[in-house]
Amino acid sequence: MKCSKRGCQKPAVVYQKYSGLHLCEEHLVEDVERRAKKEMRKRLMVERGDRIAVALSGGKDSSALLHLLKKIFKSRSDLKFFAVAVDEGIGGKGFEGFRAATLRNAEAVAKREGVPLYTFSFEQEFGFSVDEVAARGFEQAPCTFCGVLRRRILETKARELEATKVATAHNLDDEAQTVLINFVRGDWVRLARLEGGGGGKRRRAEFVPRIKPLRSVPEKEVALYALAVGLPLVSLVSAHCPYAARSFRHTAKKMLNEFERRHPGTKFSLVRGYERLSEFLPTAAAEQQPSKRLLRCVRCGEASASRICKACEIVERMK
Ligand code: SF4
Repeated sequence: MKCSKRGCQKPAVVYQKYSGLHLCEEHLVEDVERRAKKEMRKRLMVERGDRIAVALSGGKDSSALLHLLKKIFKSRSDLKFFAVAVDEGIGGKGFEGFRAATLRNAEAVAKREGVPLYTFSFEQEFGFSVDEVAARGFEQAPCTFCGVLRRRILETKARELEATKVATAHNLDDEAQTVLINFVRGDWVRLARLEGGGGGKRRRAEFVPRIKPLRSVPEKEVALYALAVGLPLVSLVSAHCPYAARSFRHTAKKMLNEFERRHPGTKFSLVRGYERLSEFLPTAAAEQQPSKRLLRCVRCGEASASRICKACEIVERMK
């Protein structure tokens, strides 16, 4: 099949069922960057003088994000980019273990893109790894602990490194999953906080603002983008976290992929529908749940919805 772009005779590498377009490698790269730029403009994600910490796991999404940001803003000398990686301590069956393989890739990507890479580990920060959490056999999936602690490291280290924004590689699939998960859980407060990242009106002074430039690009297209621009990628054997299949997100992912297969455009509709709804959410959530307003954790002093924050609760449980 040929590329659908006018005058282009190159073979297509992707078919966007939701738009009806076949795109060759070159036009796919153009399309992904166009969407990311649109998203960043719409939500004022990048501002003059920003110091942007890119959360780099070394996987395809975060590697693609770092490359894309460096490319789009190559002429902006007022902006500074650096990468932050987190070693959660996750092994698995890969040739050298899941996180070791992706961190090695993160180093290669950061070097290629010419940015400093700062790596922090759960072991150093909290005294235990996700493998150790998993070995305890708690009722909740390891992801519940891993997500909270990773966010904590990203937040505190970004602040220490004087970042004005943290860029994460959430793509359309991630966003649709998060919307679905929060709907299923009836968690309106989280839904109200989600919005798209970087949007001015929902920024909270307690946190370094998060931006998600890839939030309107499907996961498959982000992967093809990473391949098309020649980024070093982790082998498929070691590219998957061994605990992912135990998470609620994994179930949501499978359901949404099935919906998308039968009804192309489902993921876009879910995220766009949520965005329209979100216009009404902030005041409702704040008014109905005043108890959810942020306090300071009595242990670590970080912003928290309760007296003791989730990260300190986890550390306590592991002791
Ligand atoms: Fe952590 Fe779960 Fe992601 Fe694995 S899949 S890195 S355990 S959040």
